[in-house]
Order: sequence, then C-alpha cells, then structure tokens
Amino acid sequence: MEYYSDTFKAIRLLQQLGYELFVVTNQSGVGRGYFSLEAVYVIHKQLQNDLREQKLEPFKDFAICPHSPDDKCDCRKPSGKMIQEFIEKNNISKEVSYMVGDKVIDAEAGKNAGIQGVIVRTTASKDFPYFKTLLEFAQSLKK
Ligand SMILES: [Zn+2]
Repeated sequence: MEYYSDTFKAIRLLQQLGYELFVVTNQSGVGRGYFSLEAVYVIHKQLQNDLREQKLEPFKDFAICPHSPDDKCDCRKPSGKMIQEFIEKNNISKEVSYMVGDKVIDAEAGKNAGIQGVIVRTTASKDFPYFKTLLEFAQSLKK
C-alpha cells in the first residue's frame, strides 16, 4: 500500500482540528468479480493499522458500495446515500462537514447528501472547490 507523502500530515491536521474521518468508497471491482469484498476489508484493515502506527486516530467507519454500475444500486457514488447514512447514524452536523475525493462524483455525492463537496489531486471542476493536495485542503480549514 502506498500513500502520498503528505497524507498522514493532512490526516493529523484534520484530526487536530477536531474532524472525524469516514471513508466512503465505490468498489465496483467486487461487483464485476475482479476481487472479493474480503480483499477490500483487508485493505481497510491495513489502512487502520497504518494510521495507528502513525499515532493517528483510525477512521471512524467505512461505507462500501460493492456494486457494479449495471447493478443500478442506490448506494454507488454520486449517490449521497452512504454519506447520508453516516450523517444520521453519527449525528454529524452537515454545515461543518466535507466530502473530499479525487473525482467529481465524490464531490457530487457530498452535495447529494447535503454537505460541501471538495475535489483534490486530479481534476479541478467549476462546481466544487479544488485543492492540489489533501494537505492544502486541511490547511485551508485552519483559518
Ligand atoms: Zn451500491
């Protein structure tokens, strides 16, 4: 597993600022039969271990859409459903929450759940704030 060089620094800053972190992920490779849901769990577990090793809080929870687009499920991003469920289950205040991703559909999923969508890394979009890195996004929240 490889991380961008500033990922842990960004997560540390977000946690210092009091944010609780969740993962919301499309894993259509499961629905397409390329890998198992079990393999996704293994990766998530590794992620949690790596965070602990860095003396960071692990992610609070993971939501996985394992379906392929052909399944026409209602959880796959840009649906806001997985985020919406986290909001309800954890009493999250939408006004101070963000959905950060590297694809437009991630930001759209946030919007569809009623929170601010943000794009990092890949593609700037006129519809959402864009930051070159997760760290730059985290630093923008410090003000
Ligand atoms: Zn789904």
